[in-house]
Amino acid sequence: MSIRQEWERIEKLILSPHASLSSMTAGREVWEEPCSVRTDFQRDRDRIIHSKAFRRLKHKTQVFISPEGDHYRTRLTHTLEVAQVARTISRALKLNEDLTEAIALGHDLGHTPFGHTGEKVLDEICSFGFRHREQSLRVVEKLENGRGLNLTHEVRDGILYHSGGKSAQTLEGQIVHFSDRIAYINHDIEDAQRAGILDEKALPKSCVEILGSSKRERINTMINDIISNSYDKDYVKMSENVQEETHKLRNFLFETVYVASKAKIEVCKTDNIIKALFRYFSSNPEELSQEYRLMLEADGKERVVTDYIAGMTDRYAISTFAQLYIPSAWQVN
Ligand code: MG
Repeated sequence: MSIRQEWERIEKLILSPHASLSSMTAGREVWEEPCSVRTDFQRDRDRIIHSKAFRRLKHKTQVFISPEGDHYRTRLTHTLEVAQVARTISRALKLNEDLTEAIALGHDLGHTPFGHTGEKVLDEICSFGFRHREQSLRVVEKLENGRGLNLTHEVRDGILYHSGGKSAQTLEGQIVHFSDRIAYINHDIEDAQRAGILDEKALPKSCVEILGSSKRERINTMINDIISNSYDKDYVKMSENVQEETHKLRNFLFETVYVASKAKIEVCKTDNIIKALFRYFSSNPEELSQEYRLMLEADGKERVVTDYIAGMTDRYAISTFAQLYIPSAWQVN
């Protein structure tokens, strides 16, 4: 018996009957010889970590443009916090922690430069619309290496449905949906405080009473609430009370940080960068990097230009914009 088979056996013994067993995966698009050491979900997690798209998350904005300070979250540290929350919940519920981790690490791979502002602009420009959850799937199915990562069905489903109206098929995927919110609500409060645009005392009173008065308490309340309401169940949920206050806190952040704040004004300045890059590469597709040029014939110009821009880091987008539109004598480093 291989080490992988031994772990598949252990999964059957210790995991909840509602867990997704790696030995029961719906599999990959293209069949591959299984690894002798790792389960299919562990292997997917490792493929994501070794991808270029994963490394680029380091230089993509979460909410605050990254050069502002070294302590703000980036898309990468957000992703790692989501994975931490998700793994804690998954293990406590005796679900498949490896599957949960793979989905969490892959969920934002398709995020644009400049956070949701970049996403919104691309959505406005593209005739087919743009949603980062769909782009994350496109990264793992096609863009990475030019042929995708050939991940299992469960990981791809969890990535596609981590946000939006529809739930993931697996409980592990549903955990990532909750964990994404838990992570960003709490870290965005902290980052907004650091930026001086939010005072913790201004948080809605009922949120503080029910969820707690510090980041640590609030994360703890949310995680424990999900665990106690979902233990041994075939669903993942929060209690109504905690759900409602979490929702209220999220709305509060939209009003104070995401829509109308100094951070938002800074990020909005990047609108025109995305628009200009889109215009330029649509008119000059021969200047796309080679891996994207190769896709032009099969996928069409609009799709490929969108993929190219969505894949850019903040700094790559800014330096490309500067190269194209700012006379070199005026460029500042
Ligand atoms: Mg996320």
